Amino acid sequence: MTAVTGTVRPVALVTGGSRGIGQAVVTRLARSGYDVGFCFRTSREAAEVTVKAARAAGACAKAWQVDVADMSAVQAFASAAEDELGPVSAVVTAAGIIRDGPLALMADEDWQAVVRTNLDGTYNACRAVIRRMMRRRQGCVVTISSVAGVAGTAMQANYAASKAGIIGFTKAMAKEVGSYGVRANVVAPGFIHTDMTGALSAQFRSEMTGRIALGRFGSAGEVSDVVAFLVSEEAAYITGQVIQVDGGIAL
Ligand code: NAP
Repeated sequence: MTAVTGTVRPVALVTGGSRGIGQAVVTRLARSGYDVGFCFRTSREAAEVTVKAARAAGACAKAWQVDVADMSAVQAFASAAEDELGPVSAVVTAAGIIRDGPLALMADEDWQAVVRTNLDGTYNACRAVIRRMMRRRQGCVVTISSVAGVAGTAMQANYAASKAGIIGFTKAMAKEVGSYGVRANVVAPGFIHTDMTGALSAQFRSEMTGRIALGRFGSAGEVSDVVAFLVSEEAAYITGQVIQVDGGIAL
C-alpha cells in the first residue's frame, strides 16, 4: 500500500472513530497519509486516545461529539471538518450499534435506535459530503455493513435490516455518483474483536468460531486495511462492491 505523499494531505471523515473498527480506520488512514476528522457519541476519553494515536502517525486529527442520527449535527460536523482540515476526499461510516433480541418481543425503541443510528446515520454522513465530492469530481465513500446485512442473522432483525439497507443505499449511490469520479463501496465484516462482540458468551463465541473457515474472529486492523485499500488509488476501478471481511463465515 503506498502512502499518500506531497505537501497537501488528503482529508478523511470517519463516523464512530473513537473505538473498535472506526478507531482502527482513523489510525490506518493516518498512517496512509490522511488527516482525519471523526465523530463519536459518548466516550470523549476514547476519542482522545484515538486523536493521539492518529497524531503519532503524523496526521492532523480532530474529534467531534456528534450523534450520527442527527442530520443537522452531522452537517455541522462535515462543514467544521472541511473548514479546519480541508476538503474531504474520503468518508468512512463506521458508527453503529446493536440492540439484539427476538423479533416477536422487539421493543419499538430498539428497532428505531438501531435503524436511526446505523442506516439514517450512514445516509446523514454521505448526504453531508456527497455534493461537495461531486462538485470536486473526486472522492470515495466506504460504508460499514455486516454479514448480518448480507445473510440475515436471527435475533438481529433490526440490525440486519439496517445493514442490508446500507448495502442497497451504497450501490444506488455508486451508480449515481460514478460519472462524477466518486466511488462508493461497502465493507461487510463478520465477527471482529471489538467492544461490540466483547459481551458475547463463551458458548456463542465458540459456536460462531466453528462456522468461520479461518477458525477465528478477525481484528479491527484487518478491516481497516481493506478500507484503506478501497480509498486508495489501487482501487480506482472498484465501485458499488460489497467486500466481506469475515474469515469465510458466509461461505
Ligand atoms: P464499537 O466498538 O461498539 O464502536 C462503535 C463506535 O461507533 C464508537 O466509536 C461509538 O462512539 C460510535 N457510535 C455509536 N453510536 C453512535 C452515534 N449515534 N453517533 C456517533 N457515533 C456513534 O463497534 P465496532 O465493533 O467497532 O463496530 C463498528 C461498525 O462495524 C459498526 O457499524 C458495526 O455495526 C460494524 N460491524 C461490527 C462487527 C463486529 O464484529 N465488531 C461486525 C460487523 C459489522 P461512542 O463510544 O462515543 O459511543
